[in-house]
Order: sequence, then C-alpha cells, then structure tokens
Amino acid sequence: MRRLVTVHWLLITCLLAACAAPVTPAEKFSVITHPDGPLYVGDQVSFEVLPPTGFESEGYEVQVSLDDRELGHAGFGPYGVAGRTEATLWWAWDTRDLQPGSEMLTFTLLPDGPTWQETVTLRPQSGVPPPEPGAHWAVLTSDCCAINYITGTAAGRDIVSLAQVADEHAADLAARMGENLNEKIPVVFVPRVLGNGGFAGNAIYVSYLDSDYLGNATAQVLHHEFVHWFDALAGGDLRPTIFQEGLAVYLSGGHFKPEPLIPRAAALLELGWYIPLRTLAYDFYPQQHEIGYLEAAALVSYMIESYGWEAFDAFYRDIHATPDGRDSQAIDAALQEHFGITFTELEGSYLEFLRGQTVSTDVRDDLRLSVQFYDTVRRYQQALDPSAYFMTAWLPDYMTMSQRGIVADFLRHPSGVDNRLIEAMLVNADHALRAGEYEQAERALKAVNILLDLLEAGK
Ligand SMILES: [Zn+2]
Repeated sequence: MRRLVTVHWLLITCLLAACAAPVTPAEKFSVITHPDGPLYVGDQVSFEVLPPTGFESEGYEVQVSLDDRELGHAGFGPYGVAGRTEATLWWAWDTRDLQPGSEMLTFTLLPDGPTWQETVTLRPQSGVPPPEPGAHWAVLTSDCCAINYITGTAAGRDIVSLAQVADEHAADLAARMGENLNEKIPVVFVPRVLGNGGFAGNAIYVSYLDSDYLGNATAQVLHHEFVHWFDALAGGDLRPTIFQEGLAVYLSGGHFKPEPLIPRAAALLELGWYIPLRTLAYDFYPQQHEIGYLEAAALVSYMIESYGWEAFDAFYRDIHATPDGRDSQAIDAALQEHFGITFTELEGSYLEFLRGQTVSTDVRDDLRLSVQFYDTVRRYQQALDPSAYFMTAWLPDYMTMSQRGIVADFLRHPSGVDNRLIEAMLVNADHALRAGEYEQAERALKAVNILLDLLEAGK
C-alpha cells in the first residue's frame, strides 16, 4: 500500500492574466510518498508530486514544509521510462527526531500557489519490519564487479554464489564483445521486484529475492544488463534502442530464459502480433514489451547470420542521428552505407526469412503465454504495486542510499493479502510456463486476471 493524496483545485483562482497553469477547477495534484507502505519514525521520506493532466509545469516548483520549516523543493521534469511529468523530492523529510503520531505537511506550488496539506502518520520505530532496523548496505568486490547488497536479504545470504555467476557472465561477454573492463561494474541486488527484474543506469540493478514472481532469472537478467554495459563501452554514436535491446536479448540467448529466437519471432506472424520495424525503431519502449524485444533480437540474429558479426558490429556503431530525429531514418541511412539496402528492403527480407520458418505448437503456446504472463504481471504492478511498474518504477540511486544509510526504499513493498495471494499465483504460473505446462499456466493466469477484474470493480 502506498499513500496517494490528491488536492482538488476547487477554490483556487488564478487572477493574474499571465497565469501559465491552464488547469480547471476539477483537476488535481497527487502526492506519492516513499518508502512504500506505512512510514516509521527514522524514515527518510521522498515525495513524488504529480500535476493534473495538461498542467504546463515550466517555471513551477513544489515546496514541502513541516510547520514553518522547509523540507525541500523541486521543479517538474520527466521521470522514468515513461517520462511522466512530476516533481521528485528525494529523501526530503528526515523523521529521525520526531515522535510517533500525526504530522501535517504543507505542499505549495511556487510561485503563486495553490497550497494544500497532508496528514502523515509516523509509526513507532520499533514496528519497522525485518530485516530492518539492522539491515545495511555492504559491498563484495569480485573479478568483474563491485556487488552491492543489503544485509539480511536473500542476496546477502547467497552473495558468494551470485558473485561467481556475475564473474562467469562478465568474462563470457568480455570475450564475445572484445572489450576489457578498466573498472569494476557496479551491480546492485535489489530485494524486491522492480519493473521486469533489471535496470541498467549508473549501475546494474537486478532484483533478487525468494519467491520472485518473475522467476529465478537472475543469471539471464544479469547477462542482459551486462550486454548493455559492454555495449556502451564498445561505443558508437546513436546506437538505436531497437538494436541495443535486440543485441542484449540476442547475446543472452533469450529474454527471460533461453529461447529459440527465430522460431519465436516467426510465431509472431502467425499470432498477428508482428510490429512494423519502423514503428519499433521509432517508439520502442511503449510497444508490447516481450514482442518488441523478441522482434529486435531476432532481427539482430538475422543480420548477424546474413552479414556476420564484424559487419553487423561496424554498421551498428556507425549509425548517426538524422535531422528528423527518427531512429528509423538513421538506420536506413546506415544500412544503405554499409549494406546497400534500405530499412524497408531489410524488413522485406527479414519477413521472408521468418515466413520460411517452421513454428511448433509449443513455441507458439510458449510465446502466447509469455506475453500474457508479463502483461498480467504489469497489470498487477500497476494495480497493486505501482512503484514496481517499469514505466514509472521507483528506482533510487544506490550510492546516495548507501551514503545516507537508507535501505527502506528497496526493502519495503506492498505485502497485503491481495499482494501475497496474487504474487503466489504468479509464481505458480511462472513455474508452469517454464516447465512447459501450458494449460496449467493458462489457468493460473486466467485466475489472476479474474482477481484483478474483481479488485478493479471494487469487490
Ligand atoms: Zn535491456
């Protein structure tokens, strides 16, 4: 559970002619607090302030105060993969010196209002769920990586074997991509599900926990994120997303498990799910996630099969932005330069290649149910664990967390009856899918979706 507070603009008037916030009285701001769930004395609390739809945020800031003391302020900007407009106040409120009970926070839109208030309850520190309050950040340095984890978690328990897995996969990729590491790769094991289980940024963040409803895919996810790391080291100019993600899945031999990429991509055609490559190149992340990644990976596989690794690599690292800013145009220009074909011609031959494949019933069922599984996971996250939803995931910087001794943002997550029930059902669906028991997986997914329907209907 997390706190979602709204403020209605009912009595707000904008009397200045130059007022730049075209909001109507019915619209509202929302405030999300972190860490998830109840807050405890000692927490360092963050705020995400979401403006109403259509709000022109330029020049505006949000200030948060307690009594007459300003806790912090922040302007609006794009957040997360979705680029959602919000003001994010990271760890603005240190509650260490407060007593349990209610506190009234004041939010002010600067420069000209409105102002609204929110009552927040702080529970006694003695009630903080385990492994807090003793849990803290630790780091293990392996051959490849500086591996950060929180003590008292599954990663803390398994850190030696996790380091071995990381070293093996990094060594494999260093050899395959011809890159040497000059410094350790920062890896962060996160004790909760975030997004699809992995993120690459200033570090590689990988979810690692017992009863992970995304399955025990740590090695696969690590490998995928390591590809991104080595890919960035290898350089290039534009490196369009379709090829970055395609390369990561191709070199990992699958997305969330080892998969026959070409037959699966061919199954997309049979299922009527194929996304035109220009659409995928232009707007990769908003497309259906598993389909986009699979199609991109099979395209990379097809190109490497057709032209060889060296030629593909030279092409991929020599793609440059075109004036219209569209990746598809940039890809088209580089294809003509390197292979003498257009993007349309490449797609034509790729489709012809896919149409020539034989697709077994198992491959088609596995793909169909994989897409359904991850769509259901995302539906669950949006409904009952929105901080985990990949488009707007709450992904704080581990270094700042470590420096400030903060662990709660990664440790706490919604754990109500609904969450526990649905996560257990997703675990069953994932096991059935990975075991090739497709009817059972389908039944489990249907049950989760019926539950989510009921929850949405307020039952
Ligand atoms: Zn990726």
